[in-house]
Amino acid sequence: MSEVAAQSSKINKTYLKVGEKFPFCKGCGHHHITNAINTALVRLDLEARHVNITSDIGCVGLIDSLFEGVHSLHTTHGRSTAFSTGVEIADSILADSKLKNIVVIGDGGAMIGLLHLINAAQMNVDVTVVLYNNFLFGMTGGQNSSFSPLNFVTATTPGGNIIPPVDLLAILKGANAGFLARKTATDADLAETIAQAINHPGFALVEVLELCTEYAVRGNVIRGNKLAEIDPGTVAELGVLVNRRNRKEFGVSYREKFSGPVPAARVTEIEPRYENALEKRIGFVIGGTAGERVQFASYMLMQAAVLSGANATQKNDNPVTQGTGFSLSEVVISRDEIFYTGIDTPDIVVVVSEDGVRELEAKGTFRSADADTLVIADDTLTLPACAGKVVKLPLRKKYLPAGAAFAGILTAAKTTGMLPMLAFQDVAAMQNKPEELLSIIENVVGGI
Ligand code: SF4
Ligand SMILES: [Mg+2]
Repeated sequence: MSEVAAQSSKINKTYLKVGEKFPFCKGCGHHHITNAINTALVRLDLEARHVNITSDIGCVGLIDSLFEGVHSLHTTHGRSTAFSTGVEIADSILADSKLKNIVVIGDGGAMIGLLHLINAAQMNVDVTVVLYNNFLFGMTGGQNSSFSPLNFVTATTPGGNIIPPVDLLAILKGANAGFLARKTATDADLAETIAQAINHPGFALVEVLELCTEYAVRGNVIRGNKLAEIDPGTVAELGVLVNRRNRKEFGVSYREKFSGPVPAARVTEIEPRYENALEKRIGFVIGGTAGERVQFASYMLMQAAVLSGANATQKNDNPVTQGTGFSLSEVVISRDEIFYTGIDTPDIVVVVSEDGVRELEAKGTFRSADADTLVIADDTLTLPACAGKVVKLPLRKKYLPAGAAFAGILTAAKTTGMLPMLAFQDVAAMQNKPEELLSIIENVVGGI
């Protein structure tokens, strides 16, 4: 009988996939800890849909898939706590705050993502971290980790580790964590401690000392189950070391602080006052040069769309240098809600500088255009091959570089008739120094 089945036979209920064998090496501590998480969930009698298990990278990354019915998320190395924090914030602020978020992470991931753990403890998000600490990186070949005890022999410390291990619980205590425990994988009350941690309203972490039988056993003298004494010079303190409820859980604090309406100054509400003539969802790709108001012009397009009763999304891109190189926006406008913000085939391309042409070419925008794509380009530009209908206009000369993208967008809107010019006029009037923008609109409406 597998260890899972043996465990399942002792309880009436299980959150593990019944009959599925654990994938871990023989004797690996992961068996005990994973069973203890299951037992803790059974004791708490949680509805599976109210549990979310987020796993990190390593052998521990296989754990979420062993559970059934619960939500699960497999993430990048060290980032599991950050993902879980995000899920928890969304659940506690936007939903009913019923989700129990559990992170399973190894010692390698815990050090790679140390700041995420500190941040979660500091915020006091309702996330429970179960740290599988086997003192090394198991999945990648048994290398030393920041948790390796002194004199520990690993693949990268064949003569014995000379760097003292980090005390994560001390660090997290300093970050005001409410519940911190250290146990060994074979402790009879491990499941009880994990259940206590899950029940704690706020951040909780249980560090579980265990062995990677594949890599830790050969080079080290391991004395039975006395893992807390693996470094004879330092005996790790076991038990629940911190259990305090002196702080409110993050979601509670947030809801208390922001229970009323969001202050008006922090949102721009646009009440639709015009009709749009959209026959389908339209994807705009607008390319130009940083500092030439490409993204601002695209933002005004988005506002004009909303003012005309449409939904709109905007995604911007520019190099890390911000003020040099290309500047790009993708705007989607639609009568329907927009769930996918990507643009596979652009309906309208506005390109007003060589930087923009280069970037759109690199992105494949011209290649992905089809015969229905309308391309509005500055007349000084040479464009790559494109299946769309290309219209070249003296945008930079007539409207200066800072007005070229806006003029291109207005031309597209006027040509297709999809949005009323009055909406653009209202949007322009909402900006600082609207005169220039209004004069561009007047020129475009009067013909370019
Ligand atoms: S490599 Fe080590 S940590 Fe991974 S399953 Fe095997 S014993 Fe466990
Ligand atoms: Mg490890």
